[in-house]
Amino acid sequence: MSLIDEALSANATIANDYDPSRGKPPAPEIAIVTCADPRLTDIEQMLGLAHADVDMIRNFGTVIDDDAVRSLVLSTRLLGTREIMIINHTDCGMLRFTDSELEDRLRKETGQAPIAPAKFYSFTDAEANTKEQIQKARSHPWISPEVPVRGFVYDVSTGRLREVFAGGETVTG
Ligand SMILES: [Zn+2]
Repeated sequence: MSLIDEALSANATIANDYDPSRGKPPAPEIAIVTCADPRLTDIEQMLGLAHADVDMIRNFGTVIDDDAVRSLVLSTRLLGTREIMIINHTDCGMLRFTDSELEDRLRKETGQAPIAPAKFYSFTDAEANTKEQIQKARSHPWISPEVPVRGFVYDVSTGRLREVFAGGETVTG
C-alpha cells in the first residue's frame, strides 16, 4: 500500500471529526514565502501565528520566482494580505549542490536535456540568498510599495529567526 492509499484511508476516518467552520472563505493577514522542507511545516506555530491568518507559499529553496510572485500578487492584491515574510533556513538542501552539478547528473541519468526548468536556484549562502529574494519581491511593480517585505533565516537547530536586511547588516532577533 502506498502512502497515498494510506492517506486516503486515514482521511475517510479523520474527516468524521472535521470542523465545517474551517471551510469558510479565508481572510489572511500575512503572506509567508518559505521552503518546502518538512522542518518548515507549521512554521506558523514557531511564529505564534494562526493558520487562518497566513497565506503560505512554499517551494524548494524559498525562491521568489515567477510562481512565487504570482502567488504574492494574488495574496496581496486579491486576498488582502498586508505584509510579506520571506523565511529561508539553515541546512537547506539547496546549499548542497550547484545548478550545473545537478543538471549534469540529470542529463547523465536520463540521457535527456530539456529546456525547463531553466534554473534550480541552488545557493551557497542563506543570508545573501534571502537578501536577493527580498530585492526581487520588493522590486516587482505589482507588489505595492506599501506592503512591507522582510526576510529571515530560520535556524532549524534553535527554532529562532534572524532577520536579514536587504542593505546587508543583520540583527539577532
Ligand atoms: Zn530548504
